[in-house]
Amino acid sequence: MNQTLVIVGASYAGVQLAAATREAGFDGRIVLIGDEADAPYQRPPLSKGFLTGSFSEARLPLRSQAFFDEEKIEWMPSMRATNIDRAQREVELHDGTRIAYDHLALTTGARVRKLDCPGATLDAVHYLRDLRDARRLAQTARAARRAVVIGGGYIGLEAAASLRQHGIDVTVVETEARLLARVASPWMSAFMQRAHADKGVAFEFGRKVVALQPLDDAVSVVLDDDTHLPCDLVVVGIGVIPNTELAAECGLAVAGGIVVDECACTSDPAIVAAGDCAAFVPHWAPPGSRASRIESVQNANDMAKVAALAIVGRPQPYRVVPWFWSDQYDLKLQMAGIHSGFTHHALRGSVDEKKFSIFYFRGDALIAVDSINRPQEHMLARKLLAQSVKLAPHEAEDPAFDLKGAAQ
Ligand code: ADP
Repeated sequence: MNQTLVIVGASYAGVQLAAATREAGFDGRIVLIGDEADAPYQRPPLSKGFLTGSFSEARLPLRSQAFFDEEKIEWMPSMRATNIDRAQREVELHDGTRIAYDHLALTTGARVRKLDCPGATLDAVHYLRDLRDARRLAQTARAARRAVVIGGGYIGLEAAASLRQHGIDVTVVETEARLLARVASPWMSAFMQRAHADKGVAFEFGRKVVALQPLDDAVSVVLDDDTHLPCDLVVVGIGVIPNTELAAECGLAVAGGIVVDECACTSDPAIVAAGDCAAFVPHWAPPGSRASRIESVQNANDMAKVAALAIVGRPQPYRVVPWFWSDQYDLKLQMAGIHSGFTHHALRGSVDEKKFSIFYFRGDALIAVDSINRPQEHMLARKLLAQSVKLAPHEAEDPAFDLKGAAQ
C-alpha cells in the first residue's frame, strides 16, 4: 500500500527525517512542508561565518534541489500548517489545502523569544534565527560602530564575536551573573568571558533591559540601574520558544515541548516529533525525570533518524550522547554529554595555549567533556561517554595517559 508521510517543518530535523525515512525503505509519498521561502539551510553559520562574511549564502543549503528530486521528497516552501485533523488524518495549510497522511512528523522547531519592553520593535533591533534575520543583520553590521548584544548565551556570544571581527564595539547584557549559564559550567563561563574581554567586549551582568529609546539615528539601551548604552545596533539572543501550538491544538501531549517517548513517538501512534520542538526523558536522566528538550543540530539529526525508524515499523530507542559546538574568534568550543550535577572536574591540556578539555565527573562516573581547540579529544570523549568508560580524574589530567586506548 502506498502511504503518505507528511512532515511539518523543513529545517534540520524535517530534512533529515525525510532523507532517513527514504533510506530506511519507505517508498510512499513524502511531503515536506516549510513556512520559509528559502531552501532548507544550515543555521549555525548564520551567527558565525555568514555574519563575518567568510561563509557565503551559496554554501548554506542543507541539500540540493537535485537531492529532493531524486529522493522524491516533495518540498513545499512558504507553506504553513494551521491545523491537524487527527480523526481524518489530514493536515490543513494556511491556504486551505488539506493533505491526507498515514504518518505525520512534527519538526516545527522553535522561534526566538522576543524582547518585551518599550522600544523593542525599533528597526535597530535584530534577532538571529532565520536567514532573513541574518541577511538583515549582516547588512546593518557593515555600517555599525557600536552594538549591544542582549543575552550571553551561544547566539549572543557568537554574534558578539562576529561583530567584533567587523571592528564594532560590543557590550553584552546578561541577566544572570555569568555567561552561558544555561549550558556551560561556571569554569567554562569564566574562560569564555576572559576570551571575550581580551577581544574588547564589555559586559553588564545581572542587569535587565527596561527600554530601548530612539536617539538621533541610533538607539539607547536602558538598563534597570539606569545605565544608558548608546549604539547603532542591538542583537537579541535570549533563547527560544518551541513551536508546539499545532500539537497542543490537536490534543497531543505537550509539556514544555511535544512529548515523545524514547522512539520519538507522540501520544498518537501516527505522529512522531523530533528536534527542538520535541521533549523527551533522556536515557541518562534519573528515573522519574521530566521530559525536556535539547536545542542542537545533533539532536535534530539523530532524533529524526530514530523517528524515521519508528515510521517504517522498526522502532529503536534514542540513545545518543548529546554534543554541541560553538565557534568564537579562534576558539572551537565542543561539548559532549551533559555536565549538570557534576561533583568534580579535571583539566587536560593548556589553558594558556587555548587547547584543553575539561572532564566532568559525578561521583566516579564521567558525564561530560568540554573541549577548546581539541577536536580529536572531543571525538574521543563522545566514545568514552557512549561506552560509559571508567576513567579516573588523574588519568584524564595526565597527558601521557592513552585516552584513545581507553576509548576502544
Ligand atoms: P540562545 O540560543 O538565544 O543563545 P540561551 O537560552 O542559550 O539562548 O541563552 C540566552 C541567554 O540570555 C541566557 O544566558 C539568559 O540568561 C539570557 N537572557 C534571557 N533573557 C534576558 C534578558 N531579558 N536580558 C538579558 N539576558 C537575558
